[in-house]
Amino acid sequence: MHVTEGAKLYQINMNQIKLANNKQFKCGVEQTIFESAKSAGVHLEHSCLAARCSSCKARVISGSVASIHDENILTAKEKADGYILTCNSKPLTDIVLDIEDLDGLTLIPAKTIPSKIDSVEKLTEDIVKLILRLPPNADFKFSAGQYVNLIYNGIKRSYSIANHRLVDNKLTFFIKNYTNGLMSDYFFNHAKPNDLLRMEGPLGTFFYRETKKQNIVFLATGTGIAPIKAILDDFQENASDAQLQNMKVTILWGGRAINDIFWAPKYSRLNFKFSQVISKPKLYKGEEKIYIQDHLLDMDLDWHDTVVYACGSNAMIQDSFNKLTNTGLDKNSFYSDAFVVSN
Ligand SMILES: Cc1cc2nc3c(=O)[nH]c(=O)nc-3n(C[C@H](O)[C@H](O)[C@H](O)COP(=O)(O)OP(=O)(O)OC[C@H]3O[C@@H](n4cnc5c(N)ncnc54)[C@H](O)[C@@H]3O)c2cc1C
Repeated sequence: MHVTEGAKLYQINMNQIKLANNKQFKCGVEQTIFESAKSAGVHLEHSCLAARCSSCKARVISGSVASIHDENILTAKEKADGYILTCNSKPLTDIVLDIEDLDGLTLIPAKTIPSKIDSVEKLTEDIVKLILRLPPNADFKFSAGQYVNLIYNGIKRSYSIANHRLVDNKLTFFIKNYTNGLMSDYFFNHAKPNDLLRMEGPLGTFFYRETKKQNIVFLATGTGIAPIKAILDDFQENASDAQLQNMKVTILWGGRAINDIFWAPKYSRLNFKFSQVISKPKLYKGEEKIYIQDHLLDMDLDWHDTVVYACGSNAMIQDSFNKLTNTGLDKNSFYSDAFVVSN
């Protein structure tokens, strides 16, 4: 493509990106595949957009790309097999990818709005429940399971919304205390009602997708239960009887100690099983650390007829993905949101 600006003539190199469902869009050499898709109205799976999680992972079938940052999140085998992160890759040639877009699903555009702390309450030694109050005219919409960026004093961090809708114009978050964490220090030691924070969102694509598969498995570690709770609350309140009729829900939630468990599911309309997995050895009867991914293959489920939503630690997500896709789960039936270091 040629663009004239004043007397100058610029050559803009545009490469063609093609997806597995034949969607196509152009991408400039200075744009990431994710950005150019978004500009063209093509929505791709994503979460952190900083090459730290693998939600936007895609396999290159033909063509080549340049990565912006190291893609350490991908294994050596994945790299050898041609996987890239669309948020971190600029095309060097025309590209064909093995992924599809979120065809038919609408992504609510993100916006930045002010919010005030309504309350901040300690749930466990290292988890607080934060409730934010939005301005009456905020008109903030989101899909259950999405996250936002909270901005305070120049610090910006991502947090998943634990509600499925605004309740009295308020949003709830579960926030963990990270050692030496800047935002953790604020939330655990200084935050008080009426503090003003900016909020950017909604973000990410960790929301429920309609499926004909019968089993829906939710895997969470720690505060990773927040978006899963939101999705389950949404089922309880909004799903039709027909949607729930054949749905079998399994929730596995991992924590380090019994004291880390700060929530219990109560869903009268759902057919669900709930298991807590405590990894800290002294507080658990076993001798070794036990993680939720160690339990997956003991579950009596037809993995071909299952969709998995996993949220929390990246190790749990990667390990679960590898185990389950080796046991029959379709790789396109695994959705995840890794709580990686943000920004
Ligand atoms: C999409 C997304 C959603 C998230 N949702 C939540 C949520 O609902 N609740 C929640 O508690 N957190 C969530 N996080 C993590 C959160 O954004 C911050 O990373 C976390 O709160 C730490 O911020 P901080 O400023 O306290 O620590 P920082 O000052 O950023 O870091 C302090 C130390 O902790 C380490 N660290 C920071 N973040 C992490 C992490 N996520 N995992 C392991 N080590 C880390 C750093 O390497 C550093 O050594 C989410 C992250 C993402 C990407």
